[in-house]
Amino acid sequence: MGLQSIDNSNTPRNDSSSPVVLCPACDLAVKKCQLPQGVRALCPRCQTALYDTPYCSINGMLALCLTAFFLYWPANMLPVMELQFFGSVRTTTVLQGATAVIAQGYPLVGAAVMIAAVIAPGLLISSILLQIVLIKSGLTSSLSQKVYKLLLTQQSILTQLSMLEIYVISFLVSAFQLSDHADIHFSIGTFCFAGLFLAVLFLLREYDLKHMWGYLNNEA
Ligand SMILES: [Zn+2]
Repeated sequence: MGLQSIDNSNTPRNDSSSPVVLCPACDLAVKKCQLPQGVRALCPRCQTALYDTPYCSINGMLALCLTAFFLYWPANMLPVMELQFFGSVRTTTVLQGATAVIAQGYPLVGAAVMIAAVIAPGLLISSILLQIVLIKSGLTSSLSQKVYKLLLTQQSILTQLSMLEIYVISFLVSAFQLSDHADIHFSIGTFCFAGLFLAVLFLLREYDLKHMWGYLNNEA
């Protein structure tokens, strides 16, 4: 939420010619200056965050992205929860959970779970990975620039659609609610899913759409 408010701040479009930033909270005009790595500029009047340099280099984002990519598959394929209820053992994966909801007559809810927990995070991770690969390759050809632009324009939709945190919260809620009636065991899939959640959380914290557009302008 906090990061989004910085993204939507009233910075002028041509930073180089008029380096003045308006504070989104109190409208104070602040002269923009070059910041050292990992430093954030705050409004001198109300201390609102104005702009910053990316915390991570592109290599740091690549590392987070690859971590998320490799955790994505076990998180979705392996069981996230094991229920022991009167001697019978049941395990379920994220996909099975979504299809079970659809089978019980709630197709919209099932589809929402599928999109928010499986499809959108997968597309988000692949999109950022492809963007980093394109930046690494230099963005020299017009095709790579076209693909890069397309990915950046779709980025905010994918970010808003992926809601891994809701799924993590729902694990915990169901685990607490069912713990009186059944034995709940978390397995390796749960840890992969929690790891995926953390990797995507930190990746999106480092990811800055404005900086990503900047790569295109510098190279073009
Ligand atoms: Zn201010």
